[in-house]
Amino acid sequence: MKIVFASGNEGKVREINEMLEGMEIELVSLKDYSNVPEIIEDGSTFLENALKKAKIISEFTGEAVLADDSGLQVDALGGEPGIYSARYAGEKATDEDNIDLLLKKLKNIPQEKRTAFFCCALVLYKTDGSYDSFESKWHGVIIDERRGENGFGYDPVFFVPELKKTAAELFPEIKNKVSHRGQAFAQLRRKLAEKLNNS
Ligand code: IMP
Repeated sequence: MKIVFASGNEGKVREINEMLEGMEIELVSLKDYSNVPEIIEDGSTFLENALKKAKIISEFTGEAVLADDSGLQVDALGGEPGIYSARYAGEKATDEDNIDLLLKKLKNIPQEKRTAFFCCALVLYKTDGSYDSFESKWHGVIIDERRGENGFGYDPVFFVPELKKTAAELFPEIKNKVSHRGQAFAQLRRKLAEKLNNS
């Protein structure tokens, strides 16, 4: 089964190939295509954005497409940064800028009220226009001090109480199992396994 992943990010494609290892799936990235249409992520939810990407790329390539969208939601900030996670501190913001802004906004919020979760939406869009979607959350709290060197984005300040570590202190293999993305991919794997068994 051939699936196009709606991203040109080779690192992400590698990670996803690892998560789908052992399945009879050929995952190709958008790097293999030219003149890919520009996609404006203007949906109001992660799922809407993932679906929009998947649909446009499936219509463009004529193949089944997998697309994802994810971000952080902080309860005390009414769900911010949410769908704006990558560009919270501006269009060209770095991970550091985004964390600085987040901590500034949480300055007067006590630790027990700093609950947050990462969310991942995945869409598998098929050539007949039907699709399956999967969503998963990963709960934690936002701490003031950055801890750990692994991961990316908000990982250094996302503390997972059950593991007593920030996401950036986890080994990638562990993060890939327990994270929002890891859990959404586990659901996708189960669905694909069912389909491959029935075909
Ligand atoms: P995207 O799904 O790659 O577009 O991710 C959007 C943004 O959400 C990223 O740029 C990060 O700021 C944040 N984000 C998503 N997943 C993670 C994660 O696993 N760790 C830290 N930040 C994340």
